Amino acid sequence: PSALLPPPDRICLTHLHFDHVAGLPGTLRRLADDAPGRTLEILGPPGSYDLVASHLRFVAPPDRRYIRDRVDMVVAELLSGGDAVRPARDGGPRRRALFPGPDGIWTAMEGDGARIRAAPVRHRPRVPTFGYVLEEGRRRAAVLSDNCGWGAAADEAFADADVMVNEATLGHGDAAGHRRRSPTGHSTAEMVAAGASRARPRVLVLTNFSAKLGGATFE
Ligand SMILES: [Zn+2]
Repeated sequence: PSALLPPPDRICLTHLHFDHVAGLPGTLRRLADDAPGRTLEILGPPGSYDLVASHLRFVAPPDRRYIRDRVDMVVAELLSGGDAVRPARDGGPRRRALFPGPDGIWTAMEGDGARIRAAPVRHRPRVPTFGYVLEEGRRRAAVLSDNCGWGAAADEAFADADVMVNEATLGHGDAAGHRRRSPTGHSTAEMVAAGASRARPRVLVLTNFSAKLGGATFE
């Protein structure tokens, strides 16, 4: 949150790698200052509830109470058929379970001419990862973070976006080297272009340029 942006109603987590969620405690604390009394929904993959609950335990008790008193928090997890629906913890955030429709896409919010959908993308083994499609009126943005591609269901969801944001972490040579040793779970600009040629967004924004990942391929 800042003076330039209104406080958010929702935070969409693409996956739970540390470098993508480490800022949550500070963000929640700041929201308690900036937007007291609001409901904040945090969307994310299975495990998001435990992550948010443990982040709240991680902050010092006075701050924890301050956040709890001022931010009405709901964590909505994007579950699949076999996942158990678990109750909220005593004194913890509220909890929702969302399941995909027959098209393999999760509808996380729909109303007032806006819609948020989540589509599964590939990243690292056993790290469920999503891209989000944000729609308002006729405008549509597909926002992805870490990934190395996606399947037919996501293709359908990402199609015809006005803006597509995707990661191009790897140089072409990096990808070739990493593929031999172990898959990185990230994309080269060529991979992004291949995805965009199917989705056909009006504008493609590349993010997450990186120095070589080297041996550390867990991000
Ligand atoms: Zn990651």
